[in-house]
Amino acid sequence: MELNKYRHVVVLTGAGISAESGIKTFRDQDGLWENHKIEDVATPQGFLRNKTLVNQFYDQRRRQLLSPEVKPNLAHVALAEFEANFKGKFTLITQNVDNLHQRAGSKNIIPMHGELLKVRCLRTDKIFEWHGDVTSSTPCPCCQKAGGLRPHIVWFGEMPLFMDEIEESLRDCDLFLAIGTSGQVYPAAMFVQTARHQAQAHTIEFNLEKSANHSDFHQQIFGPAATTVPLFFTRT
Ligand code: NAD
Repeated sequence: MELNKYRHVVVLTGAGISAESGIKTFRDQDGLWENHKIEDVATPQGFLRNKTLVNQFYDQRRRQLLSPEVKPNLAHVALAEFEANFKGKFTLITQNVDNLHQRAGSKNIIPMHGELLKVRCLRTDKIFEWHGDVTSSTPCPCCQKAGGLRPHIVWFGEMPLFMDEIEESLRDCDLFLAIGTSGQVYPAAMFVQTARHQAQAHTIEFNLEKSANHSDFHQQIFGPAATTVPLFFTRT
C-alpha cells in the first residue's frame, strides 16, 4: 500500500500495542485486570468504596511503567518514525494510559483515557505530573487537602477526554488503523465506523486475533504488533 497517497492518517491504539513492552492488557482470559475486578479499580464507584485499594493499584501500575524493563517496543517506534517522515497529517489516538508513545517520539497524541503519570485534584480538577505514590495523607499540591487527589484516568462510566478533537480527526481521515484494541470498550470501538462511513476512510485492524468489531474493518493484519506494525510501515 502506498501510504503517501493518504492525506490524514488516524491511528487508534489499545493495550495490545504495549503488551510486548511488558504491560499486561486489560482483560486476561479470566476477565481480571492485573488480578483485580474491573469494577473495583476502574470505576468511580470503586474509588468511592475503597480509595486506598484504587490508589495502590495505580501506584503499582506507575511503578511498573517507571521500571527500567518497560520500554517502547518496535511498534511504538514505527509509529513515531512514520509520523516524523509523513508529509500529510497524522493523529494518534490512544486508549493507553502509559507513556510509551510519548517516549518513542510520537508528537500528535490524544490520550483519551488519561495518563498514568498524572493525578487530578478532586476539588479543582487541576492536573499534576506525578511519578510517586498517592496515599490518604498525600496533600494535594493546589488545595493542600490530604486525600484530595485521584488518578488522572478515565474510568468506566466517565466521559473520555478530547472527544471533539477525536471526532474532528475521524471525520477528516482517509486511512484509519486500529492497533491492539479489543473493540469492547466504547466509544473507542465506534471510531472505525465514523472513519469508514462518515469519512470513507480505508480501515485496517492489527491484532493477534479477530476483535469484537472486526467486521467493521476493510482489512485485518494478524500477529504481534511489534512485528506487524514495523513491517506494514516499511513495506508500504
Ligand atoms: P484490551 O485489553 O481490552 O484488548 C487488548 C487487545 O490487544 C486484544 O484484542 C488482544 O488480542 C490484543 N493484543 C494483545 N497482545 C497483542 C500484541 N502483542 N499485538 C497486537 N495485539 C495484541 O485493551 P483495549 O481495547 O485497549 O481496552 C482496554 C482499556 O484498558 C483501555 O481503555 C486502556 O485505557 C486500559 N489499559 C491500558 C493499558 C496501557 O496503558 N498499556 C494497559 C491495560 C489497560
